[in-house]
Amino acid sequence: MKKLFGIIIFVFIFALLVSQKLYAYKVIVTIEPQRYFFSKIAGNLAETVVLVPSGANLHTFELKPSQIKEVSGANIYFTIGDPVEISLKNKIKTINKDIKIVDTDKNIKKLPIENHDHDHERHHEHGNLDPHIWLSPELVKIISQNMLQELITCDPKHADIYKKNFDNFISEISALNNEIKEILKSVPKDTAFLVFHPSWGYFAKDYNLIQLSVEYKGREPSPKKLASIIKTSKQKEIKTIFVQPQISSRIAEIIAKEINATVTIADPLAFNWHENLKEIAKKIRDSQ
Ligand code: ZN
Repeated sequence: MKKLFGIIIFVFIFALLVSQKLYAYKVIVTIEPQRYFFSKIAGNLAETVVLVPSGANLHTFELKPSQIKEVSGANIYFTIGDPVEISLKNKIKTINKDIKIVDTDKNIKKLPIENHDHDHERHHEHGNLDPHIWLSPELVKIISQNMLQELITCDPKHADIYKKNFDNFISEISALNNEIKEILKSVPKDTAFLVFHPSWGYFAKDYNLIQLSVEYKGREPSPKKLASIIKTSKQKEIKTIFVQPQISSRIAEIIAKEINATVTIADPLAFNWHENLKEIAKKIRDSQ
Protein backbone atom coordinates (compact mmCIF):
# COMPACT_ATOMS: atom_id res chain seq x y z
CA MET A 1 0.00 0.00 0.00
CA LYS A 2 2.80 2.34 0.95
CA LYS A 3 4.60 1.50 -2.26
CA LEU A 4 1.50 2.19 -4.34
CA PHE A 5 1.09 5.51 -2.60
CA GLY A 6 4.70 6.34 -3.41
CA ILE A 7 4.19 5.53 -7.06
CA ILE A 8 1.08 7.67 -7.22
CA ILE A 9 2.93 10.61 -5.71
CA PHE A 10 5.80 10.09 -8.13
CA VAL A 11 3.50 9.97 -11.16
CA PHE A 12 1.66 13.02 -9.91
CA ILE A 13 4.83 15.07 -9.49
CA PHE A 14 6.15 13.87 -12.84
CA ALA A 15 2.89 14.83 -14.57
CA LEU A 16 3.01 18.19 -12.87
CA LEU A 17 6.56 18.84 -14.07
CA VAL A 18 5.75 17.73 -17.62
CA SER A 19 2.58 19.80 -17.78
CA GLN A 20 4.41 22.90 -16.58
CA LYS A 21 7.11 22.38 -19.17
CA LEU A 22 4.53 22.16 -21.93
CA TYR A 23 3.50 25.76 -21.48
CA ALA A 24 5.41 27.83 -23.99
CA TYR A 25 3.46 30.89 -23.00
CA LYS A 26 1.44 32.49 -20.27
CA VAL A 27 -1.39 34.64 -21.46
CA ILE A 28 -3.85 36.94 -19.71
CA VAL A 29 -7.35 37.49 -21.03
CA THR A 30 -10.09 39.69 -19.62
CA ILE A 31 -13.13 37.40 -19.74
CA GLU A 32 -13.94 33.66 -19.73
CA PRO A 33 -15.17 33.44 -23.34
CA GLN A 34 -11.71 34.68 -24.44
CA ARG A 35 -10.18 31.80 -22.49
CA TYR A 36 -12.42 29.48 -24.50
CA PHE A 37 -11.27 31.01 -27.82
CA PHE A 38 -7.64 31.06 -26.82
CA SER A 39 -7.53 27.50 -25.52
CA LYS A 40 -8.99 26.35 -28.85
CA ILE A 41 -6.03 27.92 -30.68
CA ALA A 42 -3.20 27.36 -28.22
CA GLY A 43 -4.25 23.94 -26.93
CA ASN A 44 -1.86 22.79 -24.21
CA LEU A 45 0.90 25.15 -25.26
CA ALA A 46 -0.15 28.12 -23.20
CA GLU A 47 -1.44 28.80 -19.77
CA THR A 48 -4.36 31.22 -19.61
CA VAL A 49 -5.28 33.50 -16.74
CA VAL A 50 -8.69 35.19 -16.71
CA LEU A 51 -8.95 38.56 -14.97
CA VAL A 52 -12.70 38.86 -14.45
CA PRO A 53 -13.88 35.90 -12.33
CA SER A 54 -17.28 34.38 -13.10
CA GLY A 55 -19.96 36.34 -11.32
CA ALA A 56 -18.06 39.65 -11.44
CA ASN A 57 -19.19 42.59 -13.55
CA LEU A 58 -16.78 43.19 -16.44
CA HIS A 59 -17.57 46.88 -16.86
CA THR A 60 -16.73 47.84 -13.29
CA PHE A 61 -13.93 45.33 -12.69
CA GLU A 62 -10.74 46.27 -10.83
CA LEU A 63 -7.59 44.19 -10.54
CA LYS A 64 -7.32 42.39 -7.18
CA PRO A 65 -4.06 42.36 -5.18
CA SER A 66 -4.11 38.54 -5.34
CA GLN A 67 -3.89 38.74 -9.14
CA ILE A 68 -0.64 40.71 -9.19
CA LYS A 69 1.56 37.61 -9.05
CA GLU A 70 -0.25 35.97 -11.96
CA VAL A 71 0.00 39.11 -14.06
CA SER A 72 3.69 39.53 -13.34
CA GLY A 73 4.65 36.24 -14.99
CA ALA A 74 2.60 36.61 -18.18
CA ASN A 75 3.87 37.18 -21.72
CA ILE A 76 0.77 38.55 -23.45
CA TYR A 77 -2.41 40.32 -22.40
CA PHE A 78 -5.28 39.91 -24.88
CA THR A 79 -7.87 42.62 -24.34
CA ILE A 80 -11.45 42.33 -25.62
CA GLY A 81 -12.00 46.06 -26.15
CA ASP A 82 -14.09 47.02 -23.14
CA PRO A 83 -13.55 50.58 -21.80
CA VAL A 84 -12.73 49.14 -18.35
CA GLU A 85 -9.52 47.76 -19.85
CA ILE A 86 -7.99 51.22 -20.19
CA SER A 87 -7.24 51.26 -16.47
CA LEU A 88 -6.50 47.51 -16.40
CA LYS A 89 -3.86 47.96 -19.12
CA ASN A 90 -2.19 50.75 -17.16
CA LYS A 91 -2.09 48.71 -13.97
CA ILE A 92 -0.79 45.61 -15.74
CA LYS A 93 1.93 47.62 -17.47
CA THR A 94 3.16 48.93 -14.11
CA ILE A 95 3.26 45.41 -12.66
CA ASN A 96 4.79 43.78 -15.74
CA LYS A 97 6.59 46.16 -18.07
CA ASP A 98 7.63 43.40 -20.48
CA ILE A 99 4.11 42.18 -21.17
CA LYS A 100 2.81 42.57 -24.70
CA ILE A 101 -0.68 44.03 -24.83
CA VAL A 102 -2.72 42.98 -27.85
CA ASP A 103 -6.19 44.33 -28.61
CA THR A 104 -8.23 41.46 -30.03
CA ASP A 105 -10.97 43.84 -31.22
CA LYS A 106 -8.62 45.00 -33.99
CA ASN A 107 -10.39 45.15 -37.41
CA ILE A 108 -13.84 44.98 -35.81
CA LYS A 109 -16.29 47.73 -36.64
CA LYS A 110 -18.36 48.25 -33.53
CA LEU A 111 -22.00 49.21 -33.48
CA PRO A 112 -23.35 52.17 -31.57
CA ILE A 113 -25.02 51.11 -28.37
CA GLU A 114 -28.31 52.82 -27.89
CA ASN A 115 -29.82 53.01 -24.41
CA HIS A 116 -26.49 52.09 -23.07
CA ASP A 117 -23.28 53.56 -21.82
CA HIS A 118 -20.54 51.44 -20.35
CA ASP A 119 -18.17 54.33 -20.02
CA HIS A 120 -17.17 55.85 -16.78
CA GLU A 121 -16.81 59.60 -17.17
CA ARG A 122 -13.04 59.32 -17.35
CA HIS A 123 -13.31 57.03 -20.38
CA HIS A 124 -15.25 59.39 -22.55
CA GLU A 125 -13.14 58.93 -25.65
CA HIS A 126 -14.71 55.52 -26.28
CA GLY A 127 -18.03 57.12 -27.00
CA ASN A 128 -21.12 54.99 -27.32
CA LEU A 129 -19.87 51.83 -28.97
CA ASP A 130 -21.16 48.39 -27.99
CA PRO A 131 -18.27 46.40 -26.45
CA HIS A 132 -20.02 42.97 -26.41
CA ILE A 133 -18.38 41.76 -29.65
CA TRP A 134 -17.69 38.23 -28.36
CA LEU A 135 -21.38 37.30 -28.56
CA SER A 136 -21.31 37.32 -32.38
CA PRO A 137 -19.84 34.11 -33.88
CA GLU A 138 -18.68 36.00 -36.99
CA LEU A 139 -16.82 38.56 -34.89
CA VAL A 140 -15.24 35.80 -32.80
CA LYS A 141 -13.58 34.64 -36.03
CA ILE A 142 -11.83 38.04 -36.20
CA ILE A 143 -10.97 38.00 -32.48
CA SER A 144 -9.43 34.53 -32.94
CA GLN A 145 -7.53 35.64 -36.04
CA ASN A 146 -5.98 38.44 -33.98
CA MET A 147 -5.01 35.95 -31.28
CA LEU A 148 -3.52 33.57 -33.83
CA GLN A 149 -1.41 36.26 -35.47
CA GLU A 150 0.10 37.25 -32.15
CA LEU A 151 0.76 33.67 -31.07
CA ILE A 152 2.60 32.92 -34.30
CA THR A 153 4.69 36.04 -33.91
CA CYS A 154 5.62 35.27 -30.30
CA ASP A 155 6.02 31.50 -30.67
CA PRO A 156 6.85 30.73 -34.34
CA LYS A 157 8.16 27.29 -33.39
CA HIS A 158 4.60 26.05 -32.88
CA ALA A 159 3.02 28.02 -35.75
CA ASP A 160 1.78 24.91 -37.58
CA ILE A 161 -0.06 23.63 -34.52
CA TYR A 162 -1.65 27.02 -33.87
CA LYS A 163 -2.77 27.34 -37.50
CA LYS A 164 -4.29 23.88 -37.53
CA ASN A 165 -6.10 24.50 -34.23
CA PHE A 166 -7.32 27.84 -35.56
CA ASP A 167 -8.74 26.25 -38.73
CA ASN A 168 -10.58 23.70 -36.61
CA PHE A 169 -12.00 26.44 -34.42
CA ILE A 170 -13.18 28.45 -37.45
CA SER A 171 -15.03 25.33 -38.64
CA GLU A 172 -16.53 24.95 -35.17
CA ILE A 173 -17.74 28.56 -35.29
CA SER A 174 -19.29 28.13 -38.74
CA ALA A 175 -21.06 24.99 -37.53
CA LEU A 176 -22.30 26.84 -34.45
CA ASN A 177 -23.61 29.65 -36.65
CA ASN A 178 -25.67 27.09 -38.59
CA GLU A 179 -26.84 25.40 -35.40
CA ILE A 180 -28.11 28.73 -34.03
CA LYS A 181 -29.89 29.53 -37.32
CA GLU A 182 -31.52 26.10 -37.18
CA ILE A 183 -32.66 26.68 -33.57
CA LEU A 184 -34.10 30.07 -34.49
CA LYS A 185 -35.69 29.11 -37.79
CA SER A 186 -39.22 29.17 -36.35
CA VAL A 187 -38.67 32.64 -34.85
CA PRO A 188 -39.97 35.41 -37.17
CA LYS A 189 -37.58 38.09 -38.39
CA ASP A 190 -37.35 41.16 -36.10
CA THR A 191 -38.73 39.33 -33.07
CA ALA A 192 -37.95 41.36 -29.97
CA PHE A 193 -36.44 40.03 -26.77
CA LEU A 194 -36.02 41.95 -23.54
CA VAL A 195 -32.76 41.94 -21.59
CA PHE A 196 -31.78 43.77 -18.45
CA HIS A 197 -28.26 44.75 -19.53
CA PRO A 198 -27.85 45.14 -23.32
CA SER A 199 -25.15 42.53 -23.94
CA TRP A 200 -26.81 40.87 -26.94
CA GLY A 201 -26.80 43.57 -29.62
CA TYR A 202 -24.41 41.80 -32.01
CA PHE A 203 -26.14 38.48 -31.44
CA ALA A 204 -29.48 40.13 -32.22
CA LYS A 205 -28.10 41.70 -35.40
CA ASP A 206 -26.57 38.42 -36.61
CA TYR A 207 -29.82 36.51 -36.23
CA ASN A 208 -32.34 39.22 -37.25
CA LEU A 209 -33.70 39.78 -33.77
CA ILE A 210 -34.32 43.00 -31.88
CA GLN A 211 -32.81 43.56 -28.45
CA LEU A 212 -34.77 45.71 -26.02
CA SER A 213 -33.05 46.65 -22.77
CA VAL A 214 -34.12 47.74 -19.32
CA GLU A 215 -30.92 49.54 -18.40
CA TYR A 216 -30.47 53.02 -19.71
CA LYS A 217 -26.94 54.43 -19.96
CA GLY A 218 -25.67 51.69 -17.69
CA ARG A 219 -28.16 52.62 -14.98
CA GLU A 220 -31.56 51.53 -13.82
CA PRO A 221 -34.31 53.31 -15.75
CA SER A 222 -36.17 56.39 -14.54
CA PRO A 223 -39.88 55.89 -13.72
CA LYS A 224 -40.76 57.45 -17.08
CA LYS A 225 -38.39 55.14 -18.95
CA LEU A 226 -39.69 52.18 -16.94
CA ALA A 227 -43.26 52.97 -17.98
CA SER A 228 -42.20 53.09 -21.61
CA ILE A 229 -40.37 49.73 -21.34
CA ILE A 230 -43.49 48.16 -19.86
CA LYS A 231 -45.66 49.62 -22.62
CA THR A 232 -43.33 48.41 -25.41
CA SER A 233 -43.00 44.98 -23.80
CA LYS A 234 -46.77 44.57 -23.68
CA GLN A 235 -47.05 45.64 -27.32
CA LYS A 236 -44.36 43.18 -28.37
CA GLU A 237 -45.87 40.46 -26.17
CA ILE A 238 -42.62 39.87 -24.32
CA LYS A 239 -42.88 36.75 -22.15
CA THR A 240 -39.31 36.51 -20.88
CA ILE A 241 -36.82 38.96 -19.41
CA PHE A 242 -33.19 37.93 -19.66
CA VAL A 243 -30.89 38.91 -16.82
CA GLN A 244 -27.24 38.16 -16.22
CA PRO A 245 -25.77 36.82 -12.96
CA GLN A 246 -23.23 39.65 -12.74
CA ILE A 247 -25.75 42.48 -12.46
CA SER A 248 -28.51 42.98 -9.90
CA SER A 249 -31.88 42.87 -11.60
CA ARG A 250 -34.44 43.85 -9.00
CA ILE A 251 -36.15 46.03 -11.60
CA ALA A 252 -36.44 43.05 -13.96
CA GLU A 253 -38.59 41.32 -11.35
CA ILE A 254 -40.84 44.37 -11.10
CA ILE A 255 -41.30 44.52 -14.88
CA ALA A 256 -41.87 40.76 -15.04
CA LYS A 257 -44.75 41.06 -12.59
CA GLU A 258 -46.19 44.00 -14.50
CA ILE A 259 -46.16 42.29 -17.91
CA ASN A 260 -46.66 38.74 -16.61
CA ALA A 261 -43.31 37.48 -17.88
CA THR A 262 -40.69 35.18 -16.40
CA VAL A 263 -37.11 36.15 -15.56
CA THR A 264 -34.35 33.89 -16.83
CA ILE A 265 -30.55 33.92 -17.02
CA ALA A 266 -28.59 34.74 -20.18
CA ASP A 267 -24.96 34.91 -19.12
CA PRO A 268 -22.72 36.79 -21.60
CA LEU A 269 -19.56 35.73 -19.74
CA ALA A 270 -19.91 31.94 -19.52
CA PHE A 271 -16.76 29.95 -20.31
CA ASN A 272 -18.39 27.40 -22.61
CA TRP A 273 -19.17 29.99 -25.24
CA HIS A 274 -20.38 27.51 -27.86
CA GLU A 275 -22.95 25.75 -25.65
CA ASN A 276 -23.94 29.02 -24.04
CA LEU A 277 -24.87 30.71 -27.34
CA LYS A 278 -26.95 27.68 -28.35
CA GLU A 279 -28.70 27.75 -25.00
CA ILE A 280 -29.54 31.45 -25.38
CA ALA A 281 -30.91 30.82 -28.86
CA LYS A 282 -33.11 28.04 -27.46
CA LYS A 283 -34.34 30.29 -24.64
CA ILE A 284 -35.25 33.02 -27.15
CA ARG A 285 -37.07 30.46 -29.33
CA ASP A 286 -38.90 28.98 -26.32
CA SER A 287 -39.97 32.38 -25.03
CA GLN A 288 -42.07 32.99 -28.17
ZN1 ZN B 1 -22.07 44.67 -20.74
